Amino acid sequence: MKALADFIHERRVGYFSMEIALRPDIPTYSGGLGILAGDTLRSATDLELPMVAVTLVSRAGYFRQEIDGAGNQVEHQDKWEPANHAQPLDAKIAIEIAGRTVWITGWLYIMQGHMNGKQPAILLDACLPENHPDDQELTHFLYGGDAQYRLKQEIILGIGGIRLLHALGFEIHKYHMNEGHSALLGLELLKRFSYGSEELRPGESPYDIPRVRELCCFTTHTPVEAGHDRFSYDLVHNLLGDLIPVAVLKRLAGDEVFNLTRLALNLSEYINGVAKSHADISRHLFPGYKVRAVTNGVHPHTWACPEIAALFDRYIPGWCHEPEQLIRAECCIPDDELIAAHQGAKKKLLELVKKNGGPALLPELPTLGFARRMTAYKRPDLLFSDIEHLRKIAEKTPFQVVMAGKAHPRDERGKTLIKELHQIAGMLAGEITVVFLPDYDMETAQILVSGVDIWLNTPLRPMEASGTSGMKAALNLVPNLSVLDGWWSEGCIEGITGWAVGSHDFSSEESDASSLYRKLENIVLPLFYNDPSAWLSVMKNAASKNASIFNSHRMMRRYATEAYIS
Ligand SMILES: *Cc1c(COP(=O)(O)O)cnc(C)c1O
Repeated sequence: MKALADFIHERRVGYFSMEIALRPDIPTYSGGLGILAGDTLRSATDLELPMVAVTLVSRAGYFRQEIDGAGNQVEHQDKWEPANHAQPLDAKIAIEIAGRTVWITGWLYIMQGHMNGKQPAILLDACLPENHPDDQELTHFLYGGDAQYRLKQEIILGIGGIRLLHALGFEIHKYHMNEGHSALLGLELLKRFSYGSEELRPGESPYDIPRVRELCCFTTHTPVEAGHDRFSYDLVHNLLGDLIPVAVLKRLAGDEVFNLTRLALNLSEYINGVAKSHADISRHLFPGYKVRAVTNGVHPHTWACPEIAALFDRYIPGWCHEPEQLIRAECCIPDDELIAAHQGAKKKLLELVKKNGGPALLPELPTLGFARRMTAYKRPDLLFSDIEHLRKIAEKTPFQVVMAGKAHPRDERGKTLIKELHQIAGMLAGEITVVFLPDYDMETAQILVSGVDIWLNTPLRPMEASGTSGMKAALNLVPNLSVLDGWWSEGCIEGITGWAVGSHDFSSEESDASSLYRKLENIVLPLFYNDPSAWLSVMKNAASKNASIFNSHRMMRRYATEAYIS
């Protein structure tokens, strides 16, 4: 195939991820992990760093979110047609899953850089007539189904992914597992690098584990033990049969349960967490492993809104390829043009809210933004923990709030939170305008992070491994007001780039809620109203001191030099 020939002539990094946000109209992602994977591939494209991404085609998408009159999340399928965006590959491989042969083919999606460069992504697809009807759906639903469905997907991603790359003629010099979902690729590599029985002395492992470890790197994203994918060995044996003897699996993935994070840790020479604090947590969770920190970043060209991008083009040429240059934002951007660009972005947000039938927002009012997956640990309700106090703050210094986010269809608490936010918004109507925008996705995200004045994040520590939406805000010169977790522990310079909720250690007596209220009431909102020039200075520092660092070009240059070349 001609299009493929462009890519297989040079050695590449194989980047495996269960979800990748390739572009706004391909719904193969659910949240931050997929956005990060997309930004990884986008930066590799701009930097012309040879890579091939591997993921599932997820034909049924994640889901489209509608909110009914009572604040309930209604989920609609978000089907997409791969043929409209990608080219079918004529290779096909087989995997034995639960005693049946499952055939896997793939689609070639070509990511085009905005200036130069292009990179291939292989979208694995089990929807073939030769497969059992149940198996045809194995690559349909992103994070759908039960444990068995999920493990089958992970078999397809890891084992199927490697087999298909091989069949297509790719030469891979490094496998990068983005989160534990793809760890089963290690098992396929073990099979590939095993000694024949005649070469072995009794008791010796038939697998060349050091060789596999040299080929693999692993990025963990989960800061709590319970968040890691785990399966019973019965299930593993039922699905995989004797691909690798269970005794060997137990040594690599844990005695009691088959833990994909453990498997990835044991089969990777290079391991990293996604922020410094997250690497620390991971070292505690998994003692004995050398876990480094490569803090995440966001792709500059993708996440700067058009108004801000135009401003950067004018005053910081070259920012897209070398975002370090954004350090100049502090001195080089004229105030009046910054104000105009931000007002332009804000206007787009207000229009979007209006288009969605939301209440009228006022362009002059300070606007707080909160948008991400709706789930308990993100605490979208922390801002509303003391309604009376919040009313008092708003009487002195009026503000408005825009929120968005999807709850996973099986996350009941997440869905309840959405409902509660709608009740609170109803209750506060006429006093504090609180808008919930439905169907949060890449497009809404760009409008939101650039159109608000303050980006809020209030996760329960240490659950936010990194977080990236705050980086998108900083890139758009929007300061953060956030809990010191993940990237913000590194990005926050109090009063300069934004403000901290809570403290670095856990010693403070003050709760996160009262810290949030105190900062809003005494520092952030008064500054907005009383000292516009100091406010502009915080905005500029968000770009110069945060966006110059927390971008995916810096992240990829680090992966390239520290993880891929070794
Ligand atoms: C950036 C982004 C996220 C990640 O948000 P966090 O606050 O880092 O969790 C989730 N969803 C979408 C659509 C995004 O663009």
